Amino acid sequence: MPSKRTRLIAGNWKMNNDLNEAKDLAQALVAALPEIPEGVEVCICPPTVDLRVVSCKGGVKESPIKLGAQNVYWEASGAYTGETSVAMLKSVPVEYCIIGHSERRDYFKETDEDENKKAKALIAGGIVPIFCCGESLETREAGEHVAFVTAQIKAGLEGVEISSGDQLVIAYEPIWAIGTGKTATADDAQEVCGAIRATLVEIFGQEIADGIRVLYGGSAKPENIAGFLEKEDVDGALVGGASLKADSFAAMVEKA
Ligand code: PGA
Repeated sequence: MPSKRTRLIAGNWKMNNDLNEAKDLAQALVAALPEIPEGVEVCICPPTVDLRVVSCKGGVKESPIKLGAQNVYWEASGAYTGETSVAMLKSVPVEYCIIGHSERRDYFKETDEDENKKAKALIAGGIVPIFCCGESLETREAGEHVAFVTAQIKAGLEGVEISSGDQLVIAYEPIWAIGTGKTATADDAQEVCGAIRATLVEIFGQEIADGIRVLYGGSAKPENIAGFLEKEDVDGALVGGASLKADSFAAMVEKA
């Protein structure tokens, strides 16, 4: 049975699109999605340098498409060369921020403690974290994927306090399915997303956990999104490659 939570389709542009390309893609999306289906929320996460142009008139301003960032630093301000604070994102304005993506954990050596500090800073500043988790192929083949992902959730959300489920989003992204064209099956996604929800119940209690969106990510595309969204604990998708083309991303929103 599909979930009753508001679905979230979030586009992760990663390190793609300069200012002009970002503006063009935002405009194409606004044109392709004049209306968002009822019960669906849409968010795009461009590179930090593109956020402002995408947020303005000629971008997603006055459209129902929301804006997210791909990274944040937890300190309020100061000598942190190259970093972006929560308040800076908030002033764009940004409503969501991806944290804990496997590319950040892997290439930039971010730890569960880093993700925990980012989650706390974002929630305190009124931005909703899209907290990513997911196992490697090796961990899955060893049959340890559920234990691994639930441990990531517990460590990353340790001491995080929220008063309602809409203050947090989780994205389950098996690393072996990201950018590879290999997708998890809908049953694989439900197995882990269900275990994530059970962990969220332990941490936050039933009522709050029932309101937290859990997304699937990893080669999600127009052809496979419907199967994921039929599952009880899958409330949307975090989309990489297919979010870079307005027609594919719009087709996914329409199927949500
Ligand atoms: P993909 O990326 O859709 O290109 O696999 C998803 C992600 O990394 O968020």
